[in-house]
Amino acid sequence: MSARIDRITSSTLNRFSGVRLDRLVELRDDLDWQQQQLAKDNTRLVPLWRSRCLVKRNASHDYAAVFIKPSQLQQLNSIREPTLLGQNNEIVYFAVTINDQQRDQLLKQHADCRFADLRLLAGDMHPLEAGILAYAKALHYWQHRHTFCGTCGAANQLKSAGHRMVCSNDECARQTFPRIDPAIIVLVAHGDSCLLGRQSSWAPNRFSTLAGFLEPGESLEDAVVREIWEEARVRLKTISYRSSQPWPFPASAMAGFIAEAESRDYEVGEELEDVRWFSVTEIPELLIRGEVFMPNRVSIAFQLVSEWYRQQTGHELATLINQSLPASKAPDNTC
Ligand SMILES: [Zn+2]
Repeated sequence: MSARIDRITSSTLNRFSGVRLDRLVELRDDLDWQQQQLAKDNTRLVPLWRSRCLVKRNASHDYAAVFIKPSQLQQLNSIREPTLLGQNNEIVYFAVTINDQQRDQLLKQHADCRFADLRLLAGDMHPLEAGILAYAKALHYWQHRHTFCGTCGAANQLKSAGHRMVCSNDECARQTFPRIDPAIIVLVAHGDSCLLGRQSSWAPNRFSTLAGFLEPGESLEDAVVREIWEEARVRLKTISYRSSQPWPFPASAMAGFIAEAESRDYEVGEELEDVRWFSVTEIPELLIRGEVFMPNRVSIAFQLVSEWYRQQTGHELATLINQSLPASKAPDNTC
């Protein structure tokens, strides 16, 4: 299945996408099978503490996800029942939520590891590991935010190995499934220039593609047109879907587009601190002088800018960035 997907979508270029994990949907309600897996020594658990993931820094300065064995979980007594993630290469993965005390215990067992924000490290991890952590983190967030029924207020109970909530009030019994907030993200182009913006909370000089959440009653394309108008007062002539990305920060799915503007007229909207057109010839100069930083490589925004830059110049944006500035100097706290 995965090989076929690779040939029909560019989304596999995006971090957290195309994860080769059989999600074992048919086994989510098979408690006996799950108990058998949790008794096996080759089953792996993904510990999550306050939405942070356990990682270890390698000698090569990249990061490895740290998965634990079920025997270690028994010592920890996880807050919730393990959430079934799926299987890859005969290894079954579950996610487990742990509290502060359990975190301390776990770090004693793994003194060279730490709990970290996946968003900051995912670019330096193996894609499969980053994808598994993103999947686990998204479910963890949804479970944490839906502990009570939205209809009657009674406590929810986790079912289907962590993929379904059922209200404990028998008269209500409302079911809830994992929620995802769809969002659009757009590289707007006009001739040899592209439109990038920045939020005031971002690191200095960081610019990225424009983005926003879908509103009720909108198609993806409706949201693209509205957001670009709201954020930059730019009218669009064409819209082309490029790829998508799961974005569990905290619960989004990003649909990426490249759009063509009618003109370069623009105004900075209320949501952004700055919006500017960047010509393809000035981008290398600005990068070399450290006056502009491109989006983080983990995000689909980087892929959209890279695709446009490749179309314009025949060169890779990543190569240009590597040549222009040591990675250690680039800010890493924004999208
Ligand atoms: Zn209820």
